[in-house]
Amino acid sequence: MLKKVNYAKILGVPLIATGFLQINRTNNRQQIDLKGLKYIKEENKISQNDKFNILIGELNKMSTINSSGISKPKFELGLSREELEKRTHKDFLTTKKMLAVDAPEYLELSDGDKEALKHLTKAAARLDKVEMVLDDHNNLEFKEYLEKEIAKGNEEAKLTKILFDAQKGIFALDRDSNLIKLAKGLEPKKGIGVYPTDLSREEFHTILIKMIKEGKVNEVAKILNQRSIVERDGEELKATDYVDYFKEDFEYMAQELEKAAETSTNEDFNEYLKLQAKALRKADPMLDGYADKKWATLQDTPLEFTITRENYSDEMTESVVENAELKKLLDENKIVPVSKDCLGGRVGIVNKQGTDAILNVKKYLPLMAKNMPLNDKYVQNISADKESKQTMVDVDLVGVYGDVGEYRAGITLAENLPNDDKVSVSQLDGGRRNVYHRQIRLITSDDAREKMQKRLNAMLNPELHKYYNDEADHWFTVGHENGHSLGPKSGTEGLGKYKSIIEENKADMVSLAMLDVLTDAGMYTPEQREQIILTYAADNMMMAKPTLSQAHRVRSVMQNYYFIKEGAITISKDGILDVNMDKMVPTAQKMLKEIIEVQLSGDFSRGEKYVNDYFVWTEEMDTMAKNIKKVSKTLNGKVESPLADMLVKE
Ligand SMILES: [Zn+2]
Repeated sequence: MLKKVNYAKILGVPLIATGFLQINRTNNRQQIDLKGLKYIKEENKISQNDKFNILIGELNKMSTINSSGISKPKFELGLSREELEKRTHKDFLTTKKMLAVDAPEYLELSDGDKEALKHLTKAAARLDKVEMVLDDHNNLEFKEYLEKEIAKGNEEAKLTKILFDAQKGIFALDRDSNLIKLAKGLEPKKGIGVYPTDLSREEFHTILIKMIKEGKVNEVAKILNQRSIVERDGEELKATDYVDYFKEDFEYMAQELEKAAETSTNEDFNEYLKLQAKALRKADPMLDGYADKKWATLQDTPLEFTITRENYSDEMTESVVENAELKKLLDENKIVPVSKDCLGGRVGIVNKQGTDAILNVKKYLPLMAKNMPLNDKYVQNISADKESKQTMVDVDLVGVYGDVGEYRAGITLAENLPNDDKVSVSQLDGGRRNVYHRQIRLITSDDAREKMQKRLNAMLNPELHKYYNDEADHWFTVGHENGHSLGPKSGTEGLGKYKSIIEENKADMVSLAMLDVLTDAGMYTPEQREQIILTYAADNMMMAKPTLSQAHRVRSVMQNYYFIKEGAITISKDGILDVNMDKMVPTAQKMLKEIIEVQLSGDFSRGEKYVNDYFVWTEEMDTMAKNIKKVSKTLNGKVESPLADMLVKE
């Protein structure tokens, strides 16, 4: 579970999302000077485009008899030249570098695996296009528009395209929680690209109620599953499975996967690739289930390939549980709504050394399962007495595409898949696989280190600096990802839009709550324990108040408020963090128990209350946010993938 968060870890906080994603924090500690933006908003100047619109309007009025042939371009650029120049400058737009053309990891591969890697990269790269469709109705057309404008020599279009390629879409939040709209006048939709643009929540609910009452239960079930595109069909709605909707793209991918399977040196991996190819050709969730199940067993393979399927963006599907009449009808007909999947593609080379270090955690999973609160009241993915079906790899990334490669305030740091809503977990008793992204996490430059230190200087009691260790962030993340495999395995759908916030909160608290148990068992040294605690606390501080729709950041605010109330952390009037090391783990244990209770209840209003009770932004947090902003500039990031770019051209 857990995927990404779109806006994850902003400041360090692991904004891991459900599904799992975390965003990287490494360079994140930054801030933004938004004066430019605000100025533009407030001033509300009449732009050239507005002038043009006024002119067209006047012309239209004059020529009611015969349309004059002047038509308005469909898109206008959303950011001013000044804003574009700032946001594409390296101080504001950080860069994550995937493997280079001459990376030793690549050069050391056997010829067969090198050849396979080429086909895998081609397959994954196609998901950029697919995900753009799922993400917003205008993405592809806007991309074409930008390309045409660039060909005409439009400099602003060129700058806009840099941001578009980085965030992989028209809309993205930046690290200061501003919604960046690269096209003027457009707004992101609750139903992203997968529902009709003009469909309101109310109409959506009304249509579904009517359809169920008319006995169209199967059709409604298909509309509310995680793998269909929903369109209008007269007075009703109809759903088309992704496999049918993206037939051509998926067929291309299937062929590339089969080519890869011909030369890759690992038999298990090849078997997975063939299963995945099958699943791309026929709209049958069971086929994905078989592929996922095989994928989750892959531990000792030279190569990594994943199609990520996680659902954190669509806010339309799960809104149905908020309509009492509809919820009752769905329950009676045993329809469980699940938000639509966003799709991503990841290609990489498994890093042996990093993987061995992470695998060391595996033997402690049963111990963690045993120490979960209320564990006699639910079934866990990992049990205390059975060998866990959890594989884990540390990967050197070649390319990240679609959902997993979108840089929107943050980018995915690690994922633990498949999520609970997928057939392999819910029906086939399949396991899960954690994949950690080295190129996203590593702090490799002096510049990045210096930025990190500046952030600490701005917000943390100097006596605690010695405990801060960015490697400890990785260990916290490992605990977080494993945390997704612990706790109630199902039944949380009733929490609706709060499900992900609560699940992510749980994963964080598992990571922290287990520290004492794991230190006693020898997994961490006492020194590492302190580093993880302090690094978590420092990274959890934010540089801007998030909005409720930012699941990943919301949970960090909840934790901060909770920990302040419990006396585990304090933030001074000047915005400086202090941490009571002894109280951190017990506080996490307390919060974890409460979260599990909320999850077990599966009750929407209880989930809502829990989030609202702790999603409190205090004056001290605000002061601290301002301190952090003063020293950090980064607004967003982009990914460079030289090896992947070469491979897809071959
Ligand atoms: Zn997560």
